[in-house]
Amino acid sequence: MGPNAKIIENIRKVEPYVPGEQPQNQVIKLNTNENPYPPAPGVERALREMDADRLRLYPDPSAEKLVSALAEHYQVGTDQVFVGVGSDDVLSMCFLTFFNSKKPILFPDITYSFYKVWAQLYRIPYKCPKLDGEFRIRKEDYYRENGGVIFPNPNAPTAIYEDLGFVEDIISHNQDVIVIVDEAYIDFAGRSALELIRKYDNLIVVQTFSKARCMAGMRIGYAVSNPTLIQYLNDVKYSFNSYTMNQTSIACGVEAVKDREYFEKTIKKIVETREWAKTELQKLGFEFPDSKANFIFARHPRYDAGELFEALKKQDIYVRHWDSERIRQYLRITIGTREEMEQLFAALGEMIPV
Ligand SMILES: *Cc1c(COP(=O)(O)O)cnc(C)c1O
Repeated sequence: MGPNAKIIENIRKVEPYVPGEQPQNQVIKLNTNENPYPPAPGVERALREMDADRLRLYPDPSAEKLVSALAEHYQVGTDQVFVGVGSDDVLSMCFLTFFNSKKPILFPDITYSFYKVWAQLYRIPYKCPKLDGEFRIRKEDYYRENGGVIFPNPNAPTAIYEDLGFVEDIISHNQDVIVIVDEAYIDFAGRSALELIRKYDNLIVVQTFSKARCMAGMRIGYAVSNPTLIQYLNDVKYSFNSYTMNQTSIACGVEAVKDREYFEKTIKKIVETREWAKTELQKLGFEFPDSKANFIFARHPRYDAGELFEALKKQDIYVRHWDSERIRQYLRITIGTREEMEQLFAALGEMIPV
């Protein structure tokens, strides 16, 4: 039995985003680009000092303390920062607020797969220009008429970073629409588009606490732009759910932002491990675009990626694999600790005798 065909016909149907596996047992987890290190020490302190009685009360709907900490960190006004429950929440609000044209929005064919899901969910027309043969964005593809542009820099899952001049070219060719640069991995890469906010009124930069700030479990993301666009974003948010960020997240987020030294030290460790991992992968015969993120997107010319993925999983080493066009022979490997990576290479070394 169950609901009849007429009922079903009226239901909004979506093809949902498929998140990476989150096994609950002890594994070497290199599949969802989390940080292998704990958050800044102040975060643990804030958690210990949380007063359960405070939970009776609603949190501050404007998350003012966190907004202020971010504004100070990035040297912008508090009216230029929007915070949300992970950058997934922030990006989804951005799609709903800024992509409201009948013309298609543009994003790369190989990119963060959530973009397509939101476009479908909100009925936003979209087109996906193809990355070139080396998986790079062709900026000229974004110089045609469109309803908005979004791309990650570095891109995911390719890990390729484009310099600021490249990003600025896309922004400056699209001054009548909104351009969102998703900088989930920027702290491992290079210069951020944040410095272009003052110059371009159509730019929104989105970042997250999930990768470089070691707090994927807390769910904090943010957007930085000019006060007008941030206001539009807040109007939509308050029409949805005023209390998106809970008190614990706000308090812990502030501590993470304040500790610049820990942040920089953690990034340095990951970048060092990444550079060493590149040489190890090369020794094993893997090929990959040069990574500027906390993961490497690699293929082996002689071994099937799906089979390597399954064989690693049997040894409790989780990496990411998509059985989809153009990328089915690739594995996306998150940079873990040096020890975790050594175990990965030991396992790969047995599968791929050199
Ligand atoms: C991880 C990631 C996000 C989402 O991060 P949140 O955990 O929701 O903050 C957004 N965009 C890209 C490209 C990502 O890789």
